[in-house]
Amino acid sequence: MSNRRDFFRYTLVAAAGAALTGCVQNNDKAIPQSSNPASVKGRPVVIATWNNLIATETAMKKLTEGGSALDAAEAGARIPEADPNDVSVGYGGLPDRDGNVTLDACVMDDKGNSGAVCFLKNIKHPVSVARKVMENTPHNMICGSGALEFALSQGFIEEDLLTEGSRKAWQEWLKEKKYQPVINIERHDTIGILAMDKDGRLSGACTTSGLSYKMSGRIGDSPIIGAGLFVDNEIGAACATGLGELVTQTLGSFLIVELMRMGYSPQAACEEAVNRIIRRAEAAGVTDYQAGFLALDKNGEHGAFSVVQGFNYALYQNNKNIVLEAGHKL
Ligand code: ASP
Repeated sequence: MSNRRDFFRYTLVAAAGAALTGCVQNNDKAIPQSSNPASVKGRPVVIATWNNLIATETAMKKLTEGGSALDAAEAGARIPEADPNDVSVGYGGLPDRDGNVTLDACVMDDKGNSGAVCFLKNIKHPVSVARKVMENTPHNMICGSGALEFALSQGFIEEDLLTEGSRKAWQEWLKEKKYQPVINIERHDTIGILAMDKDGRLSGACTTSGLSYKMSGRIGDSPIIGAGLFVDNEIGAACATGLGELVTQTLGSFLIVELMRMGYSPQAACEEAVNRIIRRAEAAGVTDYQAGFLALDKNGEHGAFSVVQGFNYALYQNNKNIVLEAGHKL
């Protein structure tokens, strides 16, 4: 039985005795296998950052109605995008420091196709625009006015996304204009969502309004393939939430999938991605931040881990739709 405290003493190089608990040997390497007590096998499955049970329910409904994993991930992501009370995604998202709501999103499917938009204004569903980028252009990512122009050409409608609540919060912030590119657990809930159909086809989506009161034009990890989201249908998928600068610098989602390819359990892979974030933050002198990851393997087993307490996630699997608390390192 793996023990989380032991896990953090492991190194990739084989160690002796008790430190090997929770590892499998692969040549000379000890591969961490720490397990998430809530992780079970089972397909179809949908997992999403934060406690948005309606998002996972909507995604699962798509799957059971015969939709693809990509249809499911997109449908789930559209739930917080349309929710005016969700201040980190889509409509109602907190603006940048100039008062503009700017959105970032990406999708990735089971064939390795991907699409993304960033610095997109006035379109409520960036995740669906990202999908159109994937399906209807030869490109992976479109940003700013180009993304808006493209969205309009695809039939999306321009609308004001700054709600009264978010405008007030921004005006309050303007009084001090304290520019602190710091994220804490109350101020972010980017949705990363991973869906796998009953036959094991995997897709994912990630969507956000990014760091509140960010500099105009700032892009975080969420629309970056490999950072906010990565899917490899042979291995599994991962997504992220939290301080995008750190997640991008460690390419967390790609890292997790690659670690799973090496044999790490989804949980161990998330824990190692968090370790990298913490090392990077220490090196950069970043304090008071949060980052969390979810991972899913081909059996439907999952991992979830964050830097500090407070990261939860929704899991719809084996006919149950539940919210779970992720483990944390600090
Ligand atoms: N990851 C997002 C970003 O840095 C923020 C968040 O998760 O709240 O843009």
